[in-house]
Amino acid sequence: MPLLMRPLWVLSVVSEAYPLVKTGGLADVAGALPAALAPEGVKVVTLMPGYPAVMAALGNAVAHPPEPLFGGEARILAGSARGLDLLVLDAPHLFARAGNPYLGPDRRDWPDNARRFAGLALAAARIGLGALGGWRPHVVHAHDWQAALAPSYLRHAAGSGARPASVVTVHNLAFQGWFPASVAAEIGLPPEALEEAEGGHHGGLSFLKAGLQVADRITTVSPTYAREITTEADGMGLDPVLRARAGVLSGIVNGIDTREWDPARDGRIAVRYGPESIAARGGNKAALQARFGLEADPRAPLFGAVTRLTGQKGSDLMLEALPSLLEAGGQLAVLGSGEAALEAGLRAAQAAHPGRIACTIGYDETLAHQIQAGADMLLVPSRFEPCGLTQLCALRYGAVPLVARVGGLADTVTDATPEAIAAGRATGVVFAPVTAAALAEAIRRAAGLYRDPGVWAGIQAAGMRADVSWREPARAYARLYRAMAGG
Ligand code: ADP
Repeated sequence: MPLLMRPLWVLSVVSEAYPLVKTGGLADVAGALPAALAPEGVKVVTLMPGYPAVMAALGNAVAHPPEPLFGGEARILAGSARGLDLLVLDAPHLFARAGNPYLGPDRRDWPDNARRFAGLALAAARIGLGALGGWRPHVVHAHDWQAALAPSYLRHAAGSGARPASVVTVHNLAFQGWFPASVAAEIGLPPEALEEAEGGHHGGLSFLKAGLQVADRITTVSPTYAREITTEADGMGLDPVLRARAGVLSGIVNGIDTREWDPARDGRIAVRYGPESIAARGGNKAALQARFGLEADPRAPLFGAVTRLTGQKGSDLMLEALPSLLEAGGQLAVLGSGEAALEAGLRAAQAAHPGRIACTIGYDETLAHQIQAGADMLLVPSRFEPCGLTQLCALRYGAVPLVARVGGLADTVTDATPEAIAAGRATGVVFAPVTAAALAEAIRRAAGLYRDPGVWAGIQAAGMRADVSWREPARAYARLYRAMAGG
């Protein structure tokens, strides 16, 4: 009975949150969790940097007195914006810079990123220790390397007062916040924290490594990824630390915003539909074929992809598997941007196979919805995938996900084995190992299933019925927070 529980306060510390600032899935999670946690009796206050976009959106803020922070003055503004209860770190010398939160106009990391995000973490620790008139959260939740020093500053702060519990969430272990060891002096890192941050072939210090060593709990965004990152193969150099802390490491899959991603109410697609009217997707398939200049063939299996074009996402494998896709009578519509060679490869494939393969290079929310609503299958051949969101959207839209058996993809898609089909549990096609040959085989298998309308409709319907909302993930976070806060 959540209503009878005492409210539990969480300070979520994060460098981006949708819809205020977004560069990736981290922002989606930070933006969606607070509302999803409210029914669980968890009150989330989000601490984020005072970038211009955040300052502009903040209404009726209360300013706390300024304090020195790494060569300038910083104040905490308490207010709200776009449905989020916010504490904003107003430190113009660190954050009064428009555009991408991490990169300067030259598309390189800002040279003072260590100071900027250590400042965010230190502000979190100060708040955790009662700097805002004595208010203290029960839990400090630090997201990714940008916030990961918060548990370190908390742990190593002077004094013996009560401290909130801390959790670090790893959204993508590829980003570890490595800096030269010389920044330690600049950011007032206590010697113990420096030791915890040092090491590896990098020879510098990692904000994430420090946080992982001292946080009370560590989470990542799927149970399979939580296991994978403790192995040398997928631990990206931090596996020894993660193995040592395996007892407090767990995985909670992400949800998606099921109001924004709802085929029954989606204003961006040609024909709206639900699990009871899947056949109506045909109108969206025809619209998608027209939009991409593909042959208007309702019976050709239409594969889609919405992706960063990178090695992580297996975009090169997708290119290698194209001959099999064509042999299977398939079509391909790709929306994505990323590495120049992969963009060029897709353009070349489109030129070589007009009407069968098409791509749009760029970022386009509307087109992403149209692909999910019109494609028969969504390809996600990632080499590693902490959680993945596109396969969740695909499930909800009846685009059968064809995914690599890694990370969150393995946890959210049930392979269409004969047994799973018979039991009505199959929701997609899952392949391993992550090679072009295995992907090609999976494409042939998917095309075969597609040509059996009864089986195919069952797979689509099971996917559309799967719960991909934030409800269960929010419950899991609420349980974790309560366990951390002592019941
Ligand atoms: P990532 O590793 O890129 O964060 P996810 O699958 O977790 O991968 O999240 C990617 C999100 O960005 C999804 O919501 C997806 O729809 C969206 N996305 C990715 N590329 C594009 C694009 N080119 N246009 C529109 N949306 C995109």
